[in-house]
Amino acid sequence: MQVPLLDLKAQYKSIKTEIDQALQTVLNETAFAGGPFVARFEEAFAAFCECRHAVGVGSGTDALWMALIAAGVGPGHEVITVPDTFIATAEAITFCGAQPVFVDVEESTCNMDPNKLEEAITERTKAIIPVHLFGQPANMDPIMEIARRHGLIVIEDACQAHGALYKGKKAGSIGDAGCFSFYPGKNLGAYGEAGAVVTNDDSLAEKMRMFRDHGQARKYEHSMIGWNARMDGIQGAVLSVKLNHLEEWNNARRRHAGLYGELLRNIEQIVLPTEADYARHIYHIYAIRVKDRDKLISRLAEHQIFCGIHYPVPLHRQKAYESLAVPAGSLPVAEQCASEFVSLPMYPELKEEQIEHVYETIKSLML
Ligand SMILES: *Cc1c(COP(=O)(O)O)cnc(C)c1O
Repeated sequence: MQVPLLDLKAQYKSIKTEIDQALQTVLNETAFAGGPFVARFEEAFAAFCECRHAVGVGSGTDALWMALIAAGVGPGHEVITVPDTFIATAEAITFCGAQPVFVDVEESTCNMDPNKLEEAITERTKAIIPVHLFGQPANMDPIMEIARRHGLIVIEDACQAHGALYKGKKAGSIGDAGCFSFYPGKNLGAYGEAGAVVTNDDSLAEKMRMFRDHGQARKYEHSMIGWNARMDGIQGAVLSVKLNHLEEWNNARRRHAGLYGELLRNIEQIVLPTEADYARHIYHIYAIRVKDRDKLISRLAEHQIFCGIHYPVPLHRQKAYESLAVPAGSLPVAEQCASEFVSLPMYPELKEEQIEHVYETIKSLML
């Protein structure tokens, strides 16, 4: 039995009629760059996130970058984030001319440790980017409390957390802005590149709408220097169809995580992901932790079970960020987690037999 890490074809098959029809409509209307299909999706996604605004952009990376620019982050500023994330979180900071500052994560969630946050704040700190890693929100209440006390902006990296909840509130709706990626493999994935920023701040939304379209509110009237970071019409149409299925898909992921947990908890060499009391985890990634992961991953691949690693090297240990000179061992929890993560196959269409097969195979390899 083959078990891929994810299966986008299975999902397309399940919604083919709706998608094909939506794509045909965009082709008939030739509304390809921005336009009505993007606007319709923005409205639906803002409502889904329980926010006043959603601004569709070209990618999750664009979303983070634009949110920071609109919030006034620039040269001379520091932005605090975590090292266990995709590099885009830090790139967005760097491409504003600011400097990323990394704080360590909590052992239980592998998300930003609020207890480490305050000591990282300096007079240059302008913003904080908590990342909702794997689909579980960071502990936002203490993060927001510290941010407000120091007058800092909070931009949530919710690129893996479409529909996740923190104390009943939607991920992305808690900080000053929330950034989403619709990269094809995300829980809400486009058929190409796309992203969005959600916010309740009218002036932030207005700036981002201008910025993504060359700083113009009306054609060729450029009141600020912007960029081209528009979302495609095709992506808007695809995402509008898929948004209607997101809750059912997230619930399927949660059921799969429940079954994985029930089975794998018998294997003592494995640290299972846990759901914090405050959270509804939507399991974009189901990451277990094991000591000898490379051996496990290659032996599972021999059995046609394909795993991933999100992410093998924490950002402060990447060559791209060697100029920050953050030494190995200085963010010990993040480094430990990164060296042990193994992402097991996880997608809504995964079958119970496949999960049982993954468990039986791991058991035969480890016990
Ligand atoms: C996917 C992702 C991004 C970047 O999104 P893109 O759409 O690929 O640009 C940023 N942060 C995190 C945590 C992500 O998972």
